[in-house]
Amino acid sequence: MKVYNTLTKQKEEFVPLRDGEVRMYVCGPTVYDYTHLGHARTYIAFDVIRRYLEHKGYTVLMVMNFTDIDDKIIRRANETGEDPNELAEKFMHFFLEDMEALKVKPADVYPRVTEHIKDIIEFVKKLEEKGYAYEALDGVYFEVRKFKDYGKLSKVNLEEIVAGARVEPGEGKKNPEDFALWKKAKPGEPKWESPWGEGRPGWHIECSTMSTKYLGEQFDIHGGGNDLIFPHHENEIAQTEACTGKEWVKYWLHTGFVMVKGEKMSKSLGNFVTIRELLERYSPEVIRFFVLQRHYRSPLDYTEEGIQHAKNNLERLYNTIENIRIALEKAEIPFKWNKEEFELYEAIRKAKEKFYEAMDDDFNMAEAMKPIFEVANAVNKYLAEVEKPKESVLRKALEFFQMVGEIFGLFEEYFKESKEESKEKELIELLIQIRAELRKQKNYALADEIRAKLREMGIQLEDTPQGTIWKRIKV
Ligand code: AMP
Ligand code: ZN
Repeated sequence: MKVYNTLTKQKEEFVPLRDGEVRMYVCGPTVYDYTHLGHARTYIAFDVIRRYLEHKGYTVLMVMNFTDIDDKIIRRANETGEDPNELAEKFMHFFLEDMEALKVKPADVYPRVTEHIKDIIEFVKKLEEKGYAYEALDGVYFEVRKFKDYGKLSKVNLEEIVAGARVEPGEGKKNPEDFALWKKAKPGEPKWESPWGEGRPGWHIECSTMSTKYLGEQFDIHGGGNDLIFPHHENEIAQTEACTGKEWVKYWLHTGFVMVKGEKMSKSLGNFVTIRELLERYSPEVIRFFVLQRHYRSPLDYTEEGIQHAKNNLERLYNTIENIRIALEKAEIPFKWNKEEFELYEAIRKAKEKFYEAMDDDFNMAEAMKPIFEVANAVNKYLAEVEKPKESVLRKALEFFQMVGEIFGLFEEYFKESKEESKEKELIELLIQIRAELRKQKNYALADEIRAKLREMGIQLEDTPQGTIWKRIKV
């Protein structure tokens, strides 16, 4: 398998540092506003990368941070008159809801800056001890010139930055290229105690600290959108490698922007469409399908027609899957295969090969979409041709759709548990609630009867410290 590494600007063979495991860190959002399609594109892309690695048998440890304190949050909180903490908390939960709606698998840890201030301070102290950081009047800065490899990711030229940058009035840094590790508090700002007085962390240091805390001093994948390459990721590398003296991340992956009329979709330009708005009009799978139709590194133009087109294509695929389901009901046991079965089997086999080839080539999701349509076409042709379809080949087609569906996060409506099963779950949950209520009212007889009756039906209730859970048992 090959991945494109921004660090070397080429596709490289993917060999994780530890056998069978991939440790990955994706820069999470700054939580001061709703999630828009640009964010979603980046997180859906990394979700599919993660799902594919898991499909390949790797244990994936995935970490995504929340920037829950920063200039933008403070500014927005001042504008709206909210407490910065509450504002961040609110949008963090909206973000998690949006990701769940979009079927993005949750990270294993979502470290928040405000929960890791001590770790961040320790990290800055180490940089200070090693001579890479200095204290100034308004904060602690990283001295970029001391880190010899600066620019290795973004290939920026230090002299150019110096020419373009200037030291803002009130900034105490020595050189224009230096960046803040710790910002001393201005009146009214959220603040924490530190060896340099009260203040808060700079932006870049959180990712160095929290990624190494959970994934170790060296790990496999670090990702984010293209805009993070410089300065964010460049600065993260400088901090971390200066601190540990080791090469830090093996593969740097970056996603292309969602564009609107030639401009990056962004909060600051105001040209964004939120996930919430989109979900009022389209299903989550349509949004996933739309973003997966382009290579994750390419720009993606957002247009209504584009999404509508994705919707039509996805409907076509759903329609084919539904055709398979209907055909399976009257399919025959295959005592014999004819030419048509051999053809369909061959189409599926080849499509699967193409799918893996595309995904193994830097997760080329756009290319991997093509064989899905090839199977759909082959199935529809088969069903139009044969009077008595054979169960085995249809099952192969269905398994193919299920496999690509699990990787892309599609076709869940078809493959997820049946409606009856989810109704059953809801009813059991309802009974658990009623039983809890009865126990509160000390009506133990009826509460116990509910438990006993469920037990007879093969559903066992267990009271645990986390509340009542239920299990299916063999009766
Ligand atoms: P932010 O909250 O602005 O720090 O962004 C969170 C993540 O979304 C980062 O990885 C950004 O690079 C990414 N991102 C923001 N805007 C876009 C966009 N228009 N297209 C793709 N990714 C984006
Ligand atoms: Zn980051």
